[in-house]
Amino acid sequence: MKLINGAPGWPKLTSSTWTYPALQEDVECDVLVIGAGMSGGLISHELAKKGLRTVTVEKRSVGAGSTCANTGLLQFCNDKPLSACINSFGLDQGVRFYKLCEQAVKKLLAIHDSLLTKADMFPRSSLYFASEEADVPGLKAEYQALKQHGFSVEWREEKHIEASFGFRKPAGIVTHGDAEINPAAFVQSLFETATKKYGLQLFEHTRVARREDHADHITIFTDNGSKITTKHIVYATGYETQEYKKDENAVLESSFAIITEPVEDIDKVWPDKYMIWETARPYKYFRMTTDNRIVAGGFDFGSNIWEERERMLAQAAKKLEAEIEKLFPTLAPIHAEYPWAAAFCSTHDGLPMIGTHPNYNRSTFIQAYGGNGDVYCSIATDIIPALIEHGYHPDAELFRFDRPHTPSVS
Ligand SMILES: Cc1cc2nc3c(=O)[nH]c(=O)nc-3n(C[C@H](O)[C@H](O)[C@H](O)COP(=O)(O)OP(=O)(O)OC[C@H]3O[C@@H](n4cnc5c(N)ncnc54)[C@H](O)[C@@H]3O)c2cc1C
Repeated sequence: MKLINGAPGWPKLTSSTWTYPALQEDVECDVLVIGAGMSGGLISHELAKKGLRTVTVEKRSVGAGSTCANTGLLQFCNDKPLSACINSFGLDQGVRFYKLCEQAVKKLLAIHDSLLTKADMFPRSSLYFASEEADVPGLKAEYQALKQHGFSVEWREEKHIEASFGFRKPAGIVTHGDAEINPAAFVQSLFETATKKYGLQLFEHTRVARREDHADHITIFTDNGSKITTKHIVYATGYETQEYKKDENAVLESSFAIITEPVEDIDKVWPDKYMIWETARPYKYFRMTTDNRIVAGGFDFGSNIWEERERMLAQAAKKLEAEIEKLFPTLAPIHAEYPWAAAFCSTHDGLPMIGTHPNYNRSTFIQAYGGNGDVYCSIATDIIPALIEHGYHPDAELFRFDRPHTPSVS
């Protein structure tokens, strides 16, 4: 699958990168992780740290899949609001999902602290504003649900938003406990740490071609002609999983993003590097980087055709520049140094898919589909090791593949 058009800026904004050899000989391990993106990076790091003999293979290079297209907003509030999750999944499961997302952001910050090389990760707050007056009652109800269930949120009236940000929006929720990250640098650092500190074996440019199941192990055949004998496989193959295992619940679309040139005097108009997004669907979102660039994304559209994205990219980048100028007119003219478009996968019911699959023995999947994909990868680092070691995790139920799902996300 062609995942990305254009050039996401993260590799250029990443100071330390490492390369790894292709697998040229046969190896044996306890767990094979297929894919070295955010999900493969987090789970490989976790499994190797736990002392499992872990091998990771990646057909491209580390972080070169959808991870590189990521805009690096780590938020506990999802595309599907808490109130909608409660409606769909019931009170306990809806709130549990949000609590898991909140803990997952904290876990990512803790993992980052323990890495050998830092990856521009910082705690941040977010402003979630009402795109129009008609969205205010729903937003207020969402604020009340978040507050009632103990999330760190504050209500903002139009005058408060104008006083802090300079722009006028009818109302908003401020959430505390989010974070920003350079996703490419983070994944590089996860693999650096896992290989140097915990003995992970990582092979780039090694594509898994097929598997052969046996009573007590699986044999994996790679395109390089090498074999991997493993007791368990974690499939961390991102949106491309849909090429060999179609999930009815998956929705494959496209999205656009830019990173601008550094913007002078931005701190004067944009308080505390807040991450900003809105109630409209599809939504637009904005954040700053440490070197005063603006990351913006949005204008999702409902197909995953690379040629269509290619045709639309320049126009979408201009529209994102214009959206930034609309919010912060004194920063104009805004220029996108790195515009890109990408495949983007979510689910009909708004939950990621994590766990075992009835058609695959000795295997687990991490399908972190949705706008909070990185956060879901972090949730998977608790669930997957428990499933491998004990066959059970209390939260696996919520994300299992054969759950009943609703046809559309609220
Ligand atoms: C435009 C955009 C913006 C986003 N912004 C955010 C955001 O702000 N916050 C957030 O939380 N999430 C965001 N996401 C979602 C996030 O990017 C994804 O959830 C995350 O990257 C998923 O990582 P992954 O490791 O599952 O997939 P990938 O990064 O795609 O990794 C899968 C890897 O598997 C490899 N692979 C596939 N098949 C094989 C094979 N047969 N053999 C070997 N290797 C194989 C691929 O080469 C790839 O590197 C965004 C996504 C997009 C598209």
